[in-house]
Amino acid sequence: MDFSLSREDELFKRNVAEFAKEYIEPRWVEIDESGVIPTDLIRRMGEQGLLGMPISEEYGGLGETYLRTALAIEELAYHDPAVAIAVYVLLNNGWPYLLQLYANDDVKAEVLPRVVKGEYFFGIASTEAHGGSDVAGIKTFAEKGDGVWRVSGEKIYISGVREVLEQLDGGGWLLVSKTGSLDYGHRNITTFAFLPRRNGELLGEIDYTIFEEIGRGGLSTGGFKVEGFPIEDRYRVGEEGKGFYILMEGFNIARILVAAACVGSARWALDQGVEWIRNRRLFNGRRLSSFQGIYMRFSELYAELEAARLFTLRAAWMVDRIYREGDPTLNPKDLNIPVALAKYKGPETAARIYEEVMKWMGAYSYMKESNVYRGWLGILSYLVGAEGGQNIMKIIIARDYIGREYIRG
Ligand SMILES: Cc1cc2nc3c(=O)[nH]c(=O)nc-3n(C[C@H](O)[C@H](O)[C@H](O)COP(=O)(O)OP(=O)(O)OC[C@H]3O[C@@H](n4cnc5c(N)ncnc54)[C@H](O)[C@@H]3O)c2cc1C
Repeated sequence: MDFSLSREDELFKRNVAEFAKEYIEPRWVEIDESGVIPTDLIRRMGEQGLLGMPISEEYGGLGETYLRTALAIEELAYHDPAVAIAVYVLLNNGWPYLLQLYANDDVKAEVLPRVVKGEYFFGIASTEAHGGSDVAGIKTFAEKGDGVWRVSGEKIYISGVREVLEQLDGGGWLLVSKTGSLDYGHRNITTFAFLPRRNGELLGEIDYTIFEEIGRGGLSTGGFKVEGFPIEDRYRVGEEGKGFYILMEGFNIARILVAAACVGSARWALDQGVEWIRNRRLFNGRRLSSFQGIYMRFSELYAELEAARLFTLRAAWMVDRIYREGDPTLNPKDLNIPVALAKYKGPETAARIYEEVMKWMGAYSYMKESNVYRGWLGILSYLVGAEGGQNIMKIIIARDYIGREYIRG
């Protein structure tokens, strides 16, 4: 076992940190306030390689490891603790990878280079109004005729709706749909590369809404409804009826990067807190950091942050062993517990750190100018459910450790 990063990994991380300090840090508050990541910044991140870290060089990516991708996401979130930029980047490094693994070659060649350059957004469209945790119950349905699927249904709380349908040249989502029958269950789920807008043109009718959110202002979340929207069969991702497994693989990859974003944002918050307690003087000039009740709490939180980071990096390292190195002793299901631990621990730790740091800062933290609340609201998206609810992570851990039959009763 080796717990240190290689020199190359350290260098990669430092390069991303320098980029983020120069191009993101000066704009993060304005981005959070305005609700848009400027297109020029998205393109610049593309030029820097940040939008295609694990995508192979054949499609314009860097062909990097997921370990480095996670390190990069942590740095981006440190410099935009409201996490919109880290989330934009993580979605576009997570879900397109599924295309690289399972899509037709011509679809990969069409979509991946555009995502990598920041011309297209590519995320995930799974959630429906009846409850995002219950994938087996989705109602979106695709019917095939003459090599073209007609998809009908409604998705809600989907990241990237404005980016795809208004801001960039287009893109879309890995669409999760029932095929064959609408029966409850996961054996009739198929995934598609659903690209409703390409090169600035809408390819069918799509009703959409963009929601007002309380945090992570730069990235949009919305919903859309389609009725018989055509998707050519070559945009099917993986086999018919096997979409559930592809979706779960995608979640396992994306959730690691989510945890990395929470770690980066929380590290920023803890640094703000440390700066504050070192300088704030109370009770006849004593530093706040000199009170045991404060520095003991710091150490507890720091320990939790390091644990969250180690969970994250271990899960990313495992992804590389499975998908890049083809380690015969591992399979994608071995990621379930390590990833669920990282996705569970990341947001919980970050929320605890934000709460404590805001208490250390007292009334100042409640003022808009402190900006700390922006990070807290950003990471809250992951505590309430984005990329899978916290209880779902606990179900995965218990199911795989105690045993499926033992937790069913
Ligand atoms: C900012 C944001 C962005 C998002 N972006 C996307 C996106 O891009 N694409 C997408 O598809 N979805 C997206 N989502 C939706 C997200 O995936 C869902 O919020 C998530 O799957 C949970 O679904 P839900 O919110 O409908 O809650 P529900 O499924 O209704 O669950 C409610 C609560 O019950 C808990 N729960 C559920 N089942 C159980 C159980 N069996 N036992 C105990 N507790 C349980 C959950 O953990 C949760 O706390 C986004 C959400 C947010 C907030």
